[in-house]
Amino acid sequence: MTLSYHAEDRIATLPVAEYTARFRDAERIAGYCRACPSYGRSWGCPPFDFDVETRLAQYRTALLVATKITPAERALPLAEARRLIRPERQRLEARLLDLERTCGGRSFAYAGSCLHCPEGSCTRPEGLPCRHPELVRPSLEACGFDIGRTTSELFGIELRWGREGRMPEYLTLVCGLFHNAEHVVWNG
Ligand code: SF4
Repeated sequence: MTLSYHAEDRIATLPVAEYTARFRDAERIAGYCRACPSYGRSWGCPPFDFDVETRLAQYRTALLVATKITPAERALPLAEARRLIRPERQRLEARLLDLERTCGGRSFAYAGSCLHCPEGSCTRPEGLPCRHPELVRPSLEACGFDIGRTTSELFGIELRWGREGRMPEYLTLVCGLFHNAEHVVWNG
């Protein structure tokens, strides 16, 4: 059964140098990543086989997208969150990859389980290559950006967390495209 929800994209555009200076706290956020069970167990998660600073420095402009997802039904079980956000993750990741093809740049997807293989079947724990490197992109969190401050200061959205096994009133995904194009239009 599909879960009903309302999704709203909000957009922010700023220089990569400014976003990095104001919102990147690589050491602190790397500590959170190292404490996560997915650390080193998915090719979308750190540690990466590329240098994050070098990659960020290749681009001038950050197009950031915050998607606020409000379930139609209140207080859904927290265990349903992954199913609720999956269609939005698929929409956002497909759009970002499309922008990479048309405008250049590199996208950053939402943190969490990878969409492209069945759960629990990532090749990384076996030391084998990713099955879909053309589709997998790291999250902004995994590259050291503070997503709580990003949503509150750039989008006016406070992150909400579940309580007592229930979802909050809304969930927020943040993704983006770092690029050197003159103009990029987000048609979610
Ligand atoms: S596409 Fe498959 S192999 Fe690659 S990171 Fe995702 S789950 Fe792992």
